[in-house]
Amino acid sequence: MRNLGSTESLLASRLEDLQLRIAAADGKALNAERADEAEAAAHPDGVHHLRAAVRRVERALAKIRDGSYGRCDDCGAAIPPERLAATPESVRCADCD
Ligand SMILES: [Zn+2]
Repeated sequence: MRNLGSTESLLASRLEDLQLRIAAADGKALNAERADEAEAAAHPDGVHHLRAAVRRVERALAKIRDGSYGRCDDCGAAIPPERLAATPESVRCADCD
């Protein structure tokens, strides 16, 4: 099996970045005086989107640890290396995603 150390550190730094962006969005939302400002502050980056990205990155890291990285979570097929290179947090093949 190929060494996934660099993928793991890439994913770890991506996770850190996403968490900082979520914290920043949450902070803006807390400091906004009006509900519509909070809404606007929370959504430019799409906090829901960021949280979904965090879950994918965390899942990909778990797959590296349990040895299933590169295999589709749904059908078990190998995820093509090009797909993993483009989006290292891919946990499903193109057909299942
Ligand atoms: Zn699949």
